[in-house]
Amino acid sequence: MPLRFNTCPHCNKKIIFKIEMDDINSNQYPAPVYIKCKSCNKLSTFYVDSLLRVSYKELDKKLGGIKTIETK
Ligand SMILES: [Zn+2]
Repeated sequence: MPLRFNTCPHCNKKIIFKIEMDDINSNQYPAPVYIKCKSCNKLSTFYVDSLLRVSYKELDKKLGGIKTIETK
């Protein structure tokens, strides 16, 4: 279960989250997944590649995601 280190696009605080293949719709890459920041409680959309590495992120909730992941 890969652990990812990144920053929240809303508050710029460091975030850590676990992501698995079950968390994304793998029909299309980069695949969106929703990330809920523990610090500011806001949702953003992170796009990951086939190795579940973050490619880019968007501030709001974009279409196509299937799960929301809480950060640590
Ligand atoms: Zn945040």
